[in-house]
This record gives sequence, C-alpha cells and structure tokens, in this order.
Amino acid sequence: SKRNAGEPEFLQAVTEVAESLIPYIASQPRYKNSKILERIAEPERVVIFRVAWLDDKGEVQVNRGFRVQMNSAIGPYKGGLRFHPTVTLSVLKFLAFEQVFKNSLTGLPMGGGKGGSDFDPKGKSENEIMKFCQSFMTELYRHVGDDVDIPAGDIGVGKREIGYLFGQYKRITGTFNGVLTGKAFEWGGSLIRPEATGYGLVYFVEEMLKDREETLVGKKVLISGSGNVAQFAAEKCINHGAKVLTMSDSEGFIYDPLGIDLEKLEFIKELKNERRGRIKAYADHFGCEYHAGEKPWKIKCDIALPNATQNELALADAEMLINNGCYCVAEGANMPCTPEAVAAFNNARVLYAPGKAANAGGVAVSGLEMSQNSLRYSWGREKVDHKLKAIMTDIHHICVKYGKDEQGHINYEKGANVGGFVKVAEAMLSQGVV
Ligand code: NDP
Repeated sequence: SKRNAGEPEFLQAVTEVAESLIPYIASQPRYKNSKILERIAEPERVVIFRVAWLDDKGEVQVNRGFRVQMNSAIGPYKGGLRFHPTVTLSVLKFLAFEQVFKNSLTGLPMGGGKGGSDFDPKGKSENEIMKFCQSFMTELYRHVGDDVDIPAGDIGVGKREIGYLFGQYKRITGTFNGVLTGKAFEWGGSLIRPEATGYGLVYFVEEMLKDREETLVGKKVLISGSGNVAQFAAEKCINHGAKVLTMSDSEGFIYDPLGIDLEKLEFIKELKNERRGRIKAYADHFGCEYHAGEKPWKIKCDIALPNATQNELALADAEMLINNGCYCVAEGANMPCTPEAVAAFNNARVLYAPGKAANAGGVAVSGLEMSQNSLRYSWGREKVDHKLKAIMTDIHHICVKYGKDEQGHINYEKGANVGGFVKVAEAMLSQGVV
C-alpha cells in the first residue's frame, strides 16, 4: 500500500478483491508462485496529460487527462472515460482494476482500462464541451486504437462527447474505425448500448430472484441516480411489473409512493438528457416528496439499486435497508456500497451483487459494438438484447459456481472476484512473466 499512498479508492477496491481472492489463491500454488495477484494490482501503463483549451470568454483553461491501461491479458484495454471534478488517479485506478474482472466475466475478449478528466461538463456550453473533447483527444489518440485500447462513456461522457472525441480521432488519424464505443447508431454505434447497463442490471436481478422463485412483479424498488444507468434500469423494472419509488441526483432524491411510471420516466429523461435540469423539478411537477441533500435508502423497499456513484451507500444506509426488509441489492454504479455496507448485507444474508457482475451489461454490449464494427455490420435490437440477456445469465452462473457456500447462500462478490480472476490469471500464466 506504500506504493499507492494517497489512493484510497484504489486501495479500497484492491482490498475488497484481495479478501476473496487470497483464500482461493492459497489453494492454487501456481497463481501464488507466479505472483499473479501482485501483478494484476499494478497497471500495465498509466498516461497522465495536460488538457488546455479556450473557453467562450477566450480564457485558457487547464485540466488533467488520464488513461489507465490496467490489463491486456485477454484482449485490448477497454473501459470508459469519466469527466467529473471528483476524478483523480486513485478513482480511475480503482475503476480500471474493477473493469479487468468485469470484462473477464462477460466472456468477451476485452482487457481492462479506464480514463477521464477532472473537467466538469456542468454549466459548460456546447462549444466548450467540443473544445475540451478535441483537446483531450489530441493527446489521447496516440495511446488508443481499435486493437489497442477502446474507450467508452461513463459519468459525464455520453453520446455527444463520444461524437466529438471520435470526430477528432478521425481527423488526426484519417481512419474510421471502432476506436470508441457508445457511438450514435447512425455512425457505428450498437442498438441497445444506451440501455445495456440498466437493462442488464435488471436481467441480473431477475436471475437472483429466480433462486427464491420470485419475479419483479409488485416489488418495491429504490433507484439512486437519474443518469444513463438509472433511467434504463427504471424503464426495465417498470416494464417487468416492479414499482420504482425513488430516483436521485447529486442534490437530493424524489420519492413517489405511487411509483414512477413510463410517462413520468419520460419526464426524467427529457429533464436530465435534454434540459440538463435537477431531479427536484420532478417533485415540483408531479407533486411528490423531495429530500434535499439526502440519499433514498431510508425508504421501505424490497430491492435497492444504487446507480449513481462510488461510496453512495454506507453502513448506516445498509442497516436502514435491512431493518426495512430490503433483501436484494444490486449495484448499477461502480462500488456504490462501502465495504462496511457490503459486510452488513452479507451478514444479514441479503442478496448482494457487486457492480462488476451486475453492471457488466454495458461493457458487454460495448464488446458487441466492437464485433459489429469489425464486421462492418449492425445487428438488430432483438439480437443484441438476446445476447445481453444470455451474457447476464452466464455471469450469474459464474457467481453461483464460485460463490455458493455450504449453507447455500450465494456470495456474489466472492463469485464474481474469483470467476473474473481465473480467466485473466490463466492468460497471464500462459503469456509468461510480463
Ligand atoms: P451519468 O452521468 O449518466 O449519471 C450519473 C448520475 O449519478 C447522475 O444522476 C448524477 O447526478 C449522479 N452522481 C454523479 N456523481 C455523483 C456524486 N458524486 N454524488 C451523488 N450523485 C452523483 O452516469 P452513468 O449513469 O453512466 O453512471 C452511473 C454509475 O454507473 C457510475 O458509477 C458508472 O461508473 C457506472 N457504470 C456506468 C455504465 C454505463 O454504461 N453508463 C456501465 C457500468 C457502470 P447529477 O445529475 O447531479 O450529476
């Protein structure tokens, strides 16, 4: 940990994984002797660069850009770009580390990476967003490529930003290829990619519920966030008969006891995607409760889906959920539950699925976007959705295979860590000491 001093999120992610892997590795001397865990926790490469750009007033702005290329044992680096003022090297290393396991779980040939900038897109004009993206890509282009490293979107990076990044990549290199995923459908994107993380999360939850011979019909669901993942998780929950009670943003949450229906969800999509407004407007418009500065975890529910950001669900929140009868928690965001919250869920035998398993649908369809780009072809909605569902079901099987204990409780965290690790570790062993 001395080597990673000052990187709390990264240390948190590695510790969480190491706790389930160490006992497993102890039973597999070939992984132990070849120091696979030590190697997997060290990025293959990290690039840090200056992003200077001119704002609308003609003033120079300076941000920092990053790309963490964590592991390429099973395929080219793959992982999103995050533009948010909370971005640090620690946050991106934690995300890149998680991505390695997640990508492995999808069964597709993708290594792990992550990148981004401390640039804050909030309050910036279209012109400023474009200028920033162009400047960012002017350095990044030399480190990425469709066989090398294929970035995608994440917080603050959606279709619009991917468009500007792609345009600049194409201008510099003179090539039109699948260097980025999350592209608009018209110029190489995949159908179902915008929906994939949220839909995949709900498919995963349905697999979890199957073990209890239950479905989503009539279940009370709490969702945090109101961005890409939250919107499509809500949509799929509603379509499958669940009642979505809450959504949130970084300023507070709305509680609609009648349930957010598809029509009200359209309001949220328009509010967040087009008007870039605050979730409070939903409460003003539909006349429901708004809780400023709070998270939704105090509301009584069956299922909780944290879909906003890291460490948004702490021990006290977990205790409230458990006391209120919540029995299933699946992470749409990356590492939204703190380690103490996760321990509380496991102690209370709550079905808990970590992001690297439950939110892998997004990167899985990104992998399918890469396949379609290589084929120079696009598949129909149903075909992609079908493949997404099959991948989520397979990930669930892997979690059960490696995570079920003697009492029949499934520790999804252990299952996902060990299941994701084995494939990467085998590839690293085959490829020698590098
Ligand atoms: P978006 O930018 O579309 O939405 C993020 C949401 O979370 C917004 O509602 C935002 O509120 C809220 N939020 C962001 N930062 C904070 C914060 N520090 N505190 C409280 N709320 C916050 O991002 P996505 O929906 O794409 O991503 C959400 C999570 O899911 C992230 O952890 C991401 O890594 C993960 N993820 C995303 C995938 C994808 O395909 N998009 C794939 C796998 C994981 P506000 O509007 O106020 O900013």
